[in-house]
Amino acid sequence: MAEAQIPHRVDAVKFVEQIQKLSGEIDSSELTRLNQSVERCLAPINCVLSFERDEERHRLLVGECSTRVAMICQRCLDVVEVEVSSRFELGLVFNDDQARQLPRRLEPVELGENGQLDLWAAIEDEVLLSLPAFPAHPESECQLQQPEPEDSNSNEQQPNPFDVLAQLKQK
Ligand SMILES: [Zn+2]
Repeated sequence: MAEAQIPHRVDAVKFVEQIQKLSGEIDSSELTRLNQSVERCLAPINCVLSFERDEERHRLLVGECSTRVAMICQRCLDVVEVEVSSRFELGLVFNDDQARQLPRRLEPVELGENGQLDLWAAIEDEVLLSLPAFPAHPESECQLQQPEPEDSNSNEQQPNPFDVLAQLKQK
């Protein structure tokens, strides 16, 4: 059976009051910014999410997400598969003032006027933040050939093109 789909937009205020838990997938092909940042998305985004309040009454979205993407190895420029996963604690706020009052451990996410949260965008942000800055194969699997140590005689070992031309003219 297919995994449940994570809804695109939710009423975050209501979900916090209900201490709503969600688990399911987001179709990664729908996430434009992610698709622009990687070579290809290889899997849906798996999410486990919980809307809750902390003891200071901040509204939180706590959860984790994971997926698999293809990126370009920065050593050999071939494709490398990367597992991406993120755990996050987001502080749900209505404006910049509230965002500034959040404790440091909480990343602010702004809700719409009616408490609506674009859940896909929030999760997409988390995945984007978790992409490696320098994607690369493990060294044993990387196709990059170490360049041969430079040989100072290499020029002399090559046939001189003018010699070859001279030989042709003699024929
Ligand atoms: Zn590589």
